[in-house]
Amino acid sequence: MFLRIDGWESNLRFSAAHFIPSHDKCSRLHGHDYAVSVTVYGDQEKEFLIDFLELKNIINRVIAQMDHRVLVPSRPGLLEYTMDDVSCTVSYGHKKMVFSKEDVFLLDAQSSSSEEMSSYIGQRIAESLRKYPKIRRLETCIEEGPGMGACAEISINHE
Ligand SMILES: [Zn+2]
Repeated sequence: MFLRIDGWESNLRFSAAHFIPSHDKCSRLHGHDYAVSVTVYGDQEKEFLIDFLELKNIINRVIAQMDHRVLVPSRPGLLEYTMDDVSCTVSYGHKKMVFSKEDVFLLDAQSSSSEEMSSYIGQRIAESLRKYPKIRRLETCIEEGPGMGACAEISINHE
C-alpha cells in the first residue's frame, strides 16, 4: 500500500534562491519555485496508513524553514562560508556573496542540487515519521518546475 501527495496540487511549495558552484550557468545566484511530492509505503491497518493532513503538516514544517531564503550548503567541499552576528559570506571560485544572516538557510548538504535537497528533505520527514509504525519507507521528490526534479528513497528507522 502506498499513499501519495503531489506538491503542486496540494500546495506543498516554497520559493528559494540558490547557486550550484560547480555548474557554469547555475553558479549564478538564481531562484526557483519548488514543489515537494511525497509517497509513503507501509501496511494499512483499519482505515489509514497516515492521515493526509498529518503528512502535509510534517512536510510543511520542513519546507517552511527554507521558504523565501537563500540556501547555503553547510557541508564542506564545494564552497566556503562564514557567519557573523548579522551576515553570511559565501565564496567559491572567484565569487564572493554577502547575505543577511536572517535571509539564509544553512542546508545540511554539500550542494543545493535537486538530488541533495530531495535527500535532505526526505531525511527530515523520515525523522517525523518514526512514530508511525505502519510506515516503512518514503519517496521524496523535489521539483524546480513541473516535471523536472529528483527523488530520494528513504527507509524509516523505527528503532
Ligand atoms: Zn537552480
